[in-house]
Amino acid sequence: MLRHLAPAGAPIRFVDLIRGGVTTASIRDTGEVLRQHIKDKFAVRHVVLTVTGRAGMTLLLRALQRLAPAERNEVVLPSYTCYSLAASAIKAGLRPRIVDISPRTLDFAPESLERTDFSRVLAIVASNLYGLPNDLPSLSTLARDRGVFLIDDAAQSMGAQVGGRWSGTWGDAGLFSFDKGKPVSAIDGGVVVTNSDAVADALNDEGKGLESPQLAESARNVVKAVAYATLLRPWLYWIPQRIPQLGLGKTVYSTEFPMETPSRFLAALGSTALDHLDEYTQARTRNAVALLQSLKGLARVATITPNARATPTYLRLPILVDSPRTQQAAIGALQEGGIGASGSYPASLADIPELRGVLRHQGREAESGRHVAGRIVTLPTHPYVSSPDISRMVEVLTRVVASPALQDVAMPGGDGKPRPVCAE
Ligand SMILES: *Cc1c(COP(=O)(O)O)cnc(C)c1O
Repeated sequence: MLRHLAPAGAPIRFVDLIRGGVTTASIRDTGEVLRQHIKDKFAVRHVVLTVTGRAGMTLLLRALQRLAPAERNEVVLPSYTCYSLAASAIKAGLRPRIVDISPRTLDFAPESLERTDFSRVLAIVASNLYGLPNDLPSLSTLARDRGVFLIDDAAQSMGAQVGGRWSGTWGDAGLFSFDKGKPVSAIDGGVVVTNSDAVADALNDEGKGLESPQLAESARNVVKAVAYATLLRPWLYWIPQRIPQLGLGKTVYSTEFPMETPSRFLAALGSTALDHLDEYTQARTRNAVALLQSLKGLARVATITPNARATPTYLRLPILVDSPRTQQAAIGALQEGGIGASGSYPASLADIPELRGVLRHQGREAESGRHVAGRIVTLPTHPYVSSPDISRMVEVLTRVVASPALQDVAMPGGDGKPRPVCAE
């Protein structure tokens, strides 16, 4: 079968590439075009651009350090999230402090936050995974009460809202990403936003240390963007899938990433991409709602409850199955059926081997993060997902959970995958 859906993605249209090229050729400061577009769309006062979201997060953490006493050197991160957050904290010279999540919401568990020692904490990062915003109003209040910064990381939730306010604009500063697999993509790009003059000043000071990309970088970005725009299509996605060097779907922990500003072409493409946010959000939401309706009541499958005041954007649809064994069976069967289902991040941050010895966490602060890592399945919702694709996902999942092979007692960790040990 040649049709294969990517796990997540935002189409880049050929007209976008042309428009991005025209902007790059005709306007000197394409960064200013993107900054103004972000300001208009999200009603924020200050915007700083970086080559990737992780570079933006690193820059922001370094900037926040300038505004706080030196002994505040910890960053509160959820036990289950994107590895880049831990990598950015380490690159900024800080220590991640892991706080457990709730498997029901994938947000921080309130009782875990309650028992967290904030005395050395610089900032809390809300990661709003899969376009499901965290309880940002409560996190804002908590951050204010404890005297720490709140970072609203909207790399996955650009376009989502809580109580009518955009994700990314809660807290002291926010982050967007234009990486592949994000709400809208320009191949790469990071955007730090803030309404605080003090944070903006610190960001601008810190931003002076960013390098400018080599001239050849724009050309490389054009080639990558054309390839991505072409190959994300379901009838061509099997091509990149068969190139192991691309490492598609692999989550790696690395602090080796450039601290640069985006190339002029990236910034221009980012601005064009932003024009599609609402259209893509509508398509994803429609697909997620259809999936949720069909999966309702299915044995061994639980869905995630969005925050009551939130409008989620469903970058992917996360579900939790009953065991690591069902997780492997479901992902395997869906992949075989041409559906880019994925286990998302393979482990809790607490189990990343490179972080052994540097993480701060108390006792069992990764229990639910580990539980989720072994049970999550994310289903594609992107604009290339068709209604027959949705029927196929439901049909495959229904078949898997009814499979007799799963009827015996599920063994924890019985998926045959070596699990990294805890880094306490
Ligand atoms: C992808 C992601 C980042 C990092 O963005 P990049 O542009 O890929 O570096 C940060 N936070 C979250 C929650 C992400 O999903």
